[in-house]
Amino acid sequence: MNACLASGWSLNAPVALTLVVGLGVILMARWVNRQRHFPGRESFIVLHMGIFWWLAAAGLELAAQAPQCKVFWAGMAWPGIIAVPTLWAVFLWQYVNSIRLPLSLRGYLLLGIGPLVASAMALSNPWHQLFYGPGTQPVDDSLGAAIRYDHGPLFDAVAIYVYVFMIFCLAVVTRAALASHGVHRRHYLAFVLVTCVPWGANLSYVVYGWTLFGFDPTPFSFAFTLVAFACLILGVRLFDLLPVARHLLLEELPDPVLVVDPRRRVIDANPAALALAGQSGDWQGMALANWPVCGAELEAMLAAGEQEMLLMPASSSRYFEVRSREIERVTRGGTVILGQMFYLRDITARHCSELKLAEALATSEERLRTITRLHEQLQEQALRDPLTGLYNRRHLGELFSREILRSQRERTPIALALIDLDHFKRLNDCHGHLVGDDVLRAVAIHLTGNLRGSDAVFRIGGEEFLLLLPGASGDEAYSRLQALCRDLAARSLPTREGSLTVTLSAGLAVWPAQGQTLEDLMQAADAALYEAKRGGRNQVRRMPASAATNG
Ligand code: GH3
Ligand code: MG
Ligand code: MG
Repeated sequence: MNACLASGWSLNAPVALTLVVGLGVILMARWVNRQRHFPGRESFIVLHMGIFWWLAAAGLELAAQAPQCKVFWAGMAWPGIIAVPTLWAVFLWQYVNSIRLPLSLRGYLLLGIGPLVASAMALSNPWHQLFYGPGTQPVDDSLGAAIRYDHGPLFDAVAIYVYVFMIFCLAVVTRAALASHGVHRRHYLAFVLVTCVPWGANLSYVVYGWTLFGFDPTPFSFAFTLVAFACLILGVRLFDLLPVARHLLLEELPDPVLVVDPRRRVIDANPAALALAGQSGDWQGMALANWPVCGAELEAMLAAGEQEMLLMPASSSRYFEVRSREIERVTRGGTVILGQMFYLRDITARHCSELKLAEALATSEERLRTITRLHEQLQEQALRDPLTGLYNRRHLGELFSREILRSQRERTPIALALIDLDHFKRLNDCHGHLVGDDVLRAVAIHLTGNLRGSDAVFRIGGEEFLLLLPGASGDEAYSRLQALCRDLAARSLPTREGSLTVTLSAGLAVWPAQGQTLEDLMQAADAALYEAKRGGRNQVRRMPASAATNG
């Protein structure tokens, strides 16, 4: 050491340049320290210190005149030389993986072992000469001549240690470049290129003996790399801007967003989520199940493994459409679930209008049902006679057409009978119109009571009825009508003035023998009815087939 001091120092141009670069590195560290945070910033700043150390030792080696002195400063550079790739690796790992927490003290101590051991080996070289071999000599006899180092086995071991970290750095950024897309990929490709610069400098020094002022160019290339990285990170602000933009978006979002960790503790909540839960102060780390207003429901949703649900918190008058999404990181070993994000979309307005719409729809459907029912009733009423409840003449045409089609298909006859009550005018005159009405109702009951499956009875006039007997032949219809006639005459009908009896006259016609159309048939039946009246009433008459068509 004394020899060092005695041999003197020379502040030549290379020394000055090294000092300038070293000063530049310190200023850069200060500047980066004042910039906005980015992942791995702390290790990036400590990395500056490592390079400064290396440069300072290199500057002192350049300035020292005595060879032993130069070798001493070369040994003193080793903490920096080892620390730089180590810190470089830590920084790149943190940056690429967005790790915002600084490396722990334990981590620093662990990674510090390598530089310490290497420094100890280099500084104890005079005793073992295993780091720099005996061939370590000045390149010439001039004062302050550069040293040509004879690398011993310990040097090689340390070099391998350094290269392991360098390869790791290159692998980290290459992988990031391969795994990313677009602007991110270009960003990482630039990282790969810049990371290659110190590699190139170091390899050209070690393999081809390329030097800068007779000196290892690696620390200078690292200084360049630092500037390039600072420009890439802080100039582009790619990884800085995106999280900030996303954060702002979350802050401004009117919909609540919650993030829980795998242990279901709330680790993030945007202002909308805090407002909904009425939370302020120390909420981070609270169990999801205890989160006010919606925690229990979200916990149940997670337990059920559902991705979407409708949430109507009891203590809030709002409705939310909840979507949950796993936050995952893809690693080489597979996918790691980092937590869960809940996005609560406020659909109160939409839900209320949906409810109103559904209500309006239900009301109009109910109205439609009522209208349909009333319409059916009206239609039924229009076809029926209000006094007796029998079908009226309006329904006759429709029913007859239907029966004709069936009879044509099945080749069966249809009998049609016109019935007229006898001396009804007289009955009205004697007992009054209301009693007449009672009799009409009782006769209707009598007629319907004697119908069969497809038979139909109509009230077609005051005290006139029409019977349609599909499938009945002339004889069959005739005997059934006679029975009807007989039974009515023998029957006492209940009226408001006590029991009364009434008789009927009927005229019968059969399709197709006595008429093809309803009008023809009715005309034939009417003629037969006329005959029945003329024959003394209380009887059934039918027209002979030949007489019918002539009326
Ligand atoms: P005929 O034996 O010749 O048929 O004698 P009739 O008195 O029954 O004569 P007609 O058939 O011409 O008379 C029909 C009477 O029926 C006339 C009217 O007073 C009565 N009438 C018609 N419609 C109604 C009604 O809705 N209620 C009541 N009570 N009587 C009616
Ligand atoms: Mg009449
Ligand atoms: Mg009559």
